[in-house]
Amino acid sequence: MVLIRRIIHRYKHLTGCVDCGRTDRILDYDHDGTEDEKLFEMANPWGWTPEEIWVEFMKCKVRCKRCHGKRHATANWSKSRNSTR
Ligand SMILES: [Zn+2]
Repeated sequence: MVLIRRIIHRYKHLTGCVDCGRTDRILDYDHDGTEDEKLFEMANPWGWTPEEIWVEFMKCKVRCKRCHGKRHATANWSKSRNSTR
């Protein structure tokens, strides 16, 4: 449990934001188009097994607070937006 949380915590700072590429902002795991399958938020994985956390982790993209907010503020957000990276 401690190990997987550490990996997940480090990983987002290695990859940076999927939209702007910044690594020096507050980074979140975003369920990018997989909200239907969401079991829990990556920021609050307490009570879930390492296997469940890993499965959830694989559904997410790393996104900074700013781009995350922008994404949810956009009414007609396209799921194909990834191609504009
Ligand atoms: Zn960003």
